[in-house]
Amino acid sequence: MKRTRGKKRGAGRGKPARRTRGMKGRPAAPPSLRVGCGADAHPLRPGPHPLGLSGHSDADVLSHAVCDALLGAAGLPDLGTRYPATEEAHRGRPGLWFLQDVMRAVRDSGYEIVNLDSIVLADAPRLQPHVESMRAAMAGALGIPKDRVSLKAKRLEGLGAIGRQEGIMAQAVALLMGRGR
Ligand SMILES: [Zn+2]
Repeated sequence: MKRTRGKKRGAGRGKPARRTRGMKGRPAAPPSLRVGCGADAHPLRPGPHPLGLSGHSDADVLSHAVCDALLGAAGLPDLGTRYPATEEAHRGRPGLWFLQDVMRAVRDSGYEIVNLDSIVLADAPRLQPHVESMRAAMAGALGIPKDRVSLKAKRLEGLGAIGRQEGIMAQAVALLMGRGR
């Protein structure tokens, strides 16, 4: 194993590593990594469940959670503040539109996605068969490779409101890295 230059012998084996120094003796700036989390829930309407992340869809709950994770990591106002529900223009917008718009704002703030992880909690509709296409749709909207986007579909096996198929919930965590910092 290659030893890091300047690292004291014994570092990593119980002894605290010597602090890396930057220019002029000041501590080196840490890499500009920022983490954010998001969650959202939507009631399910009776009738057949539309699927996918395009168009008007119950699965938009996932897009909204991912948007809040990205906005939170970038230190920007959350989804509800950025797109007030009172503004007619934002009602019924597809989830992918929000992902694209939020990603533009994140990039304008000087950040790029390292990776993002997400979970949809739903007993209905069954999302498992759609996980791969949803991952691809999210990655496409965000302009990043699919391997940086993870998605799990979890069922609550009848527990609580989600288990009674009254609603669907999503959680997301995003890690951002500052560009050129
Ligand atoms: Zn929502």
